[in-house]
Amino acid sequence: MTMRSILSGLKETNAKYRMFHAMTEDSDPGDAKFLFSAKDNLTSADMETCSGSKILVGYRPPFDAESIAKMRAAGGKLIGKCNMDEFGFGTFSTNSGLEIPRNPYDLERACGGSSGGSACAAAVFEGHVSLGVSTGGSICCPASFCGVYGIAPTYGRVSRYGLIDYGNSLDKIGVISADAKDLRKYTHIIAGKDAKDPTSCAQPEFKDTGRKLKSVAIPKEGVEGLSKDVEKAFFEAVERLRSMGVDVESIDMPSLKYAMPAYYVLATSEASTNLARYVGMRYGQQEGDHSLKFDDYFSYFRSKYFGDEAKRRILLGTYTRMAGFRDRYYAKALKVRQVVIKDYKRAFETHDAVLAPTMPFSAPRFDDISGMSALDSYKADYLTVPANIAGTPHISVPCGYGSDGMPIGMQFVADHWDEEVLFDAAEEWEKGFEMRKPEVGA
Ligand code: GLN
Repeated sequence: MTMRSILSGLKETNAKYRMFHAMTEDSDPGDAKFLFSAKDNLTSADMETCSGSKILVGYRPPFDAESIAKMRAAGGKLIGKCNMDEFGFGTFSTNSGLEIPRNPYDLERACGGSSGGSACAAAVFEGHVSLGVSTGGSICCPASFCGVYGIAPTYGRVSRYGLIDYGNSLDKIGVISADAKDLRKYTHIIAGKDAKDPTSCAQPEFKDTGRKLKSVAIPKEGVEGLSKDVEKAFFEAVERLRSMGVDVESIDMPSLKYAMPAYYVLATSEASTNLARYVGMRYGQQEGDHSLKFDDYFSYFRSKYFGDEAKRRILLGTYTRMAGFRDRYYAKALKVRQVVIKDYKRAFETHDAVLAPTMPFSAPRFDDISGMSALDSYKADYLTVPANIAGTPHISVPCGYGSDGMPIGMQFVADHWDEEVLFDAAEEWEKGFEMRKPEVGA
């Protein structure tokens, strides 16, 4: 696939996979060096940005997110804004107010979430790179369901300027691609301190020291509750790692069990305040009876345009921050976060990375997802949320295929600022891994 052929077939391909909410009209790549796409919660000056929500339909940001600006400055052409769960609230990209992306290996299955459209685009278009965003696992989960590589860098590594916030203390912008080497290349491009985002800190420079992954720790808590297919693929992959000369040790990380409930308290607390700005006055939709009192207008507007999951998270997050409850929930979740960080730090004293499957099962069918409760779907995140609340970098690599042919991923977590060891691990792994690309066509 050349850049030109991707562009000329873009509409047709999208009609099949529904990865993009908004797309370029250009069929000529001009002097672009590469094509890229971005999750639709990153603002883009030339394309509508909705963050998967009906409430933002019509919003055309006047500026590019810093990460998109950097990709363009490096010669990238933005071809599409990727479908996602509304504001990032989900694990399958099915909580979307707009379109739901289809898994390239089986159109009846989900791409994972919430960066589902990004992982889909990375799997479908040859040589493509997509920017994703992870709050609690939204880069690694879809990467594993779509059989591609994905990295969520250390919190603070990439500027969040122009990112439509979900949870400000958790959101991280990263890279998804079918080629492991792209992860290093494009993370280097988008990383760096940015005066426009005070949480993008002064950070150690990337140094390609050639340091190889020598040892991994597998938490016992990280291999519980897996589907048969995931268990089989994961332990075969571990054998292959051993044969590559990596030391593998099983460890206890008891805090992992508490990470999921703590995450949902922290994430919904932050989300509920972030969503307060969508009242039908500043961004996107503004229809309605403007002669109503403020409260009546806001309630009408928010009831109509927020999806069910957004409403659920506003209720949950408002509750956990309420006077009288905040010590019991929010303050306690912050303490759990510290314990999780300590557990990781302990593991990194003796190991280069912590390893577990990325998700406990492979991409589910849409009809199975519709039978899942909100809690079932939250529980599916128990393997991805710990590294996210710790702010540690993590990478998902495809590690095998289930009996139904669906891809399965494993996730390496490294210490803060130690992305290079993850890039090395993914590149070494890729050399001997037989990737089964999905059959694509419009
Ligand atoms: N599934 C998690 C959630 O719904 C993580 C999503 C994300 O990282 N945006 O919060």
